[in-house]
Amino acid sequence: MGDNEGAKGTSKYPTDTPKWPYNSVVEALQTRLRSELDGEVLFDEFSLGRYSSDASIYQITPLGIVVPVSSDDALRALEIAADEDVAILPRGAGTSQCGQAVGQALIIDNSKYLRNVLDFDAAGHTVWVEPGVVLDSLNAFLRPHGLWFPVDVSTSAQATIGGMTANNSCGARSIRYGNMVHNVLAVEAWLTSGDTVEFAEVGDNAEGSVRYRQLVDRVRALYVREEDEIAARVPDVQRRVAGYNLDMVSTGPFNMAHLLVGSEGTLAYFRRIKLKLSPAPPHKVLGVVHFPTFRKAMELTQHIVKLEPSAVELIDRTMIDLSRENPAFRETIDSTVRGEPDAILLVEFAGESEADQLKKLASLSVLMGDLGLPGSVVAIEDAKHQKAVWSVRKAGLNIMMSMKGDGKPVSFIEDCAVPLEHLAEYTDRLTQVFEKHGTRATWYAHASVGCLHVRPVLDMRSASGAEKMRAIAEEACELVRQYKGSYSGEHGDGLVRSEWIERVYGPRLSSAFAEIKKAFDPKGLMNPGKIVAPTKMDDRTLFRYKPGYSTLPIHSGLDWSGHEVGEGNRDRGFAAAIEMCNNNGHCRKFDAGTMCPSYRVTRNERDLTRGRANSLRLAMSGQLGPDALVSDEMYKTMELCVSCKGCKRECPTGVDMAAMKIEFLYQYHQRHRRSLMDKLVAYLPRYAPTLARVPRLANLRNQIPGLAILSEKIIGLSAGRSLPAWRRDRFLGQVEVPGGARGPEVVLLADTFNTWFEPENLRAAVAVFSAANYNTTVAESADGGRPLCCGRTFLATGMINEARAEAKRMLDALRPFVERGIPVVGLEPSCLFGLRDEFRLLLPGEETDALAKLALTFEEFLAREHTAGRLNLRLVGLPVRRALVHGHCHQRAFDVMPTVIEVLNMIPNLETEIIQSGCCGMAGAFGYAARHVDLSRKMAELSLLPAVRAATEDTVIVADGTSCRHQIADFTERKALHVARVLADALDDQADKKIVKRQPA
Ligand SMILES: Cc1cc2nc3c(=O)[nH]c(=O)nc-3n(C[C@H](O)[C@H](O)[C@H](O)COP(=O)(O)OP(=O)(O)OC[C@H]3O[C@@H](n4cnc5c(N)ncnc54)[C@H](O)[C@@H]3O)c2cc1C
Ligand code: SF4
Ligand code: SF4
Repeated sequence: MGDNEGAKGTSKYPTDTPKWPYNSVVEALQTRLRSELDGEVLFDEFSLGRYSSDASIYQITPLGIVVPVSSDDALRALEIAADEDVAILPRGAGTSQCGQAVGQALIIDNSKYLRNVLDFDAAGHTVWVEPGVVLDSLNAFLRPHGLWFPVDVSTSAQATIGGMTANNSCGARSIRYGNMVHNVLAVEAWLTSGDTVEFAEVGDNAEGSVRYRQLVDRVRALYVREEDEIAARVPDVQRRVAGYNLDMVSTGPFNMAHLLVGSEGTLAYFRRIKLKLSPAPPHKVLGVVHFPTFRKAMELTQHIVKLEPSAVELIDRTMIDLSRENPAFRETIDSTVRGEPDAILLVEFAGESEADQLKKLASLSVLMGDLGLPGSVVAIEDAKHQKAVWSVRKAGLNIMMSMKGDGKPVSFIEDCAVPLEHLAEYTDRLTQVFEKHGTRATWYAHASVGCLHVRPVLDMRSASGAEKMRAIAEEACELVRQYKGSYSGEHGDGLVRSEWIERVYGPRLSSAFAEIKKAFDPKGLMNPGKIVAPTKMDDRTLFRYKPGYSTLPIHSGLDWSGHEVGEGNRDRGFAAAIEMCNNNGHCRKFDAGTMCPSYRVTRNERDLTRGRANSLRLAMSGQLGPDALVSDEMYKTMELCVSCKGCKRECPTGVDMAAMKIEFLYQYHQRHRRSLMDKLVAYLPRYAPTLARVPRLANLRNQIPGLAILSEKIIGLSAGRSLPAWRRDRFLGQVEVPGGARGPEVVLLADTFNTWFEPENLRAAVAVFSAANYNTTVAESADGGRPLCCGRTFLATGMINEARAEAKRMLDALRPFVERGIPVVGLEPSCLFGLRDEFRLLLPGEETDALAKLALTFEEFLAREHTAGRLNLRLVGLPVRRALVHGHCHQRAFDVMPTVIEVLNMIPNLETEIIQSGCCGMAGAFGYAARHVDLSRKMAELSLLPAVRAATEDTVIVADGTSCRHQIADFTERKALHVARVLADALDDQADKKIVKRQPA
């Protein structure tokens, strides 16, 4: 591979991963970038660490990172890098699975600023975009025009068009629309020679700059030379993304941009990309075909595709079972899957005419009958139901990745594609290969094009994991070759598959690829080591878990034993929890979910769940130097996490950064003093009874501007914020009802915030319970001392021992009720969910588990009683017609918003709507800090505040979270109410009040 070797970069830096600062070249580069760019220039160890991995198994520390603010800024950075002979690595969302987005290079991150749609031709169905535009945002822009960009990758919420183009990405509907290469019309690209060239259709004779014509002539000559080898070697399957697309060149007209598609950043930097758009099909129907055996599904796919579906996607038995176990998907599976099939195929038909699609769906049923499976098709016409089924399929990989323990499903042969007639035999034989190597895998995805996803479970921290990976890869590659398939069918080559290009395509084409690389990038600066001159896929020095990887022992404050699954994770639960992040980048999303509020505002990799998990992992494994875990840099990394628990629910692998932040703060404050503000927040439950005796004095800060300014200067509390007001009429649960208690018992948890600042909420809850004939007890401490507290304020500042003491008081107080199975109901979501969540990390054990089972939000309790037919609540209605509801992050994280709606819907004539908002931005005390107030407001402005401001007068704004209500009050003219207040207002005034205060038994 002579030429291949030659292309292995001429850069001046060492090939291993040295320690910073290690090279004058890098220093010179950094100095120039800082002085000549407008964008962000990141060379600190934490940033380098955060950009050292993608969704692959690899980790390579980059030289530095530039986040350009404009296209011109990016070009300036590229020029400087080329001038300094430094390798360049363009990057989008970093969701690549093969390692093509990591390297020892200057990373140009397009995803933060280069997100503009540049030139849209609705009539001509084309658009020019910048490389950092995310697919879902582009499609949101196109939707009103009835158009879409149809390469619908599963990572559509993160993947950038630049990354998709460079990876030649493919979506579920590729059978109809093809891959990126079939949908990119032109690319304006920068070459290391300094030329910026538009690559597009060329005729018999290329036109354009000298450099462009030279390149066209060169690749044409290579094509002519290799035409017979291309015919012999390039597999005849749609899904092939290995090497460069030399087979798409021709002696006649062809599109030069197609050579750049799939080049993985190794040939040029894409400055602008022109895309072909498609009309969005207005009608879709879905046939879910049930198969008694997996093999049958594989055998019959080839017949189904003849009906011209827009997608045929596989979900196997394991995935059906895993989805059933997941509360988010159970209902969909139950309403879709009949019996216990071994596999199902999702067959979609889409087009202009509804009648045509229904006809096709009917012919699918006929076909399956003819093929010996009558009655195997469940037809789904309802759009919502279809969407729910697709969401199960889309979450396929994520469902698998939540596996705890030493072994994890590893991506390295995940997207081989074979001709459909061989699919059954191929999957059979590969399954046998897995069994031979003592592992297993789950199959799913693109059956229509013979490209099934499969990840064997391996422990990549051990040498044997790498050995098994190599052995399985060898056999898989051989199988794919036998079936004339494609070894790289979707995710690209990167570090994991570039070495196989020569094996599959042969030395002649492999050399031709090296010549292409040399023609485009003579100095080998663009993303070296990918496609051409590759390293070995099993070179463990390039792995995320390198030989000798270990983590520092810590005395953790929380109990992480739930993560100590497998031999390799013994006594390292916190580290194992952090390592659950596999870098898939799902947290970079902007949909209706919550995760991740700080990233949504700053768009910094640092302020992303992934960025935090990576920083923690690197620090815990000593890769960021001594004491990195308790460093100020780590503090900055964790600071903007608002502990919303969005990731706990929405991260596919369940990374619970809110809990990790508690542990981090605990560790950090072993070394660093707490601020005055932290202490004031933390000890609120302890001093509240004293301060509440002098409410006028305590509230002076809100009334005298000078005091507010002083509080900002001394404590750091934003002067612009009003603090919750202390109340004379605090709630102490002293409400007696004549006639005594009747009906079933319920314990009401009077949390710190509602007790001292908004007692009317607790009174409202008691009134509602009373009206429904419940015998309400307000939980009180067993020692008769100050009110109970869940410990939330201590957790927010990492004071785990204090929080544990509060949790213990709570458990002691509630024990008599828990023993009798009495429900414990809370109004403040973050406090109530503390009982179900953090208590388990503070005081793990049967008693805590028993309490967790009984702890319910106000709405969960009422909805449960309603469903059981026990709720006897007469509601007469409200003077308003509409309720606009903002869900507290923890209500979303624990998926209880449906119960909020259910309960509000009990009020006659009230229309209820949930605001599609994420975190309100206040997040406990976070938004009160002067240094956070701007970010806090920006979080709220993303969707919550505009929705509240747009609400009509006859709309009641509903928010169960204390801090959410304060945020709304601070930045809008509206006041939000707890559901308990709304319900109490809707009570039949004639209802018999039976409010009872009882001492704990
Ligand atoms: C859970 C999961 C599911 C996935 N599902 C799919 C799927 O359904 N289909 C699919 O095809 N892939 C899938 N992928 C892989 C990946 O998401 C896609 O390839 C995606 O298109 C990558 O986009 P990105 O913005 O993250 O690119 P990155 O990973 O950041 O970069 C990808 C490559 O593009 C290069 N690049 C980026 N920008 C430029 C530029 N401006 N100029 C030149 N080169 C550039 C980079 O150097 C790199 O080589 C999946 C990955 C994960 C983790
Ligand atoms: S935190 Fe979760 S969603 Fe984000 S990259 Fe890691 S695993 Fe993916
Ligand atoms: S808890 Fe919320 S803010 Fe913190 S990382 Fe998770 S999603 Fe982001």
